[in-house]
Amino acid sequence: MGHYMDSDTTIKELKNRVQKFCEERDWDQFHNPKEISIGIIAEAVELTEHFRWCSEKECLDMFKDPKKKEEIRDELSDTFYWILRFAQKYDIDLSDGFDSKMKKNAIKYPISKAKGSKKKYNEL
Ligand SMILES: [Mg+2]
Repeated sequence: MGHYMDSDTTIKELKNRVQKFCEERDWDQFHNPKEISIGIIAEAVELTEHFRWCSEKECLDMFKDPKKKEEIRDELSDTFYWILRFAQKYDIDLSDGFDSKMKKNAIKYPISKAKGSKKKYNEL
C-alpha cells in the first residue's frame, strides 16, 4: 500500500500514467515525434553526465552512495518517461516491439559468433 507501482505494473499502466500526467498539464500541444525524441536524448545525456570523467571504479562506487544512486535512477526514469510518452502518443506496443527487436538482435548476434566479443554485427 502507498506505492503507485509494484512488480505487477504493466507498460500499459505506465503509458496511461504518462498520458494522464501530460493531459492534466495540457502538454499534448508541445509533444510531437521530434520533441519527444529530443527528450529521450536529453535525459539520456543527463544520465551520462554522472559518469563523465570518472574512472570505471569511480562510476561503480556511485551505486554504493544512496543519494547518488537515486540521482542516477531519476535520470534513467526521465529517459524512460519520454520513451513511454513516444510509445503512448503514437500507439507503439513496446512489449511486442521489444520482443521483436530482441529476436532480430539474436539473429544479428548469434552466440556462436558474438560471445565475448564487442564487435558490431557487420564485423562478426
Ligand atoms: Mg532529468
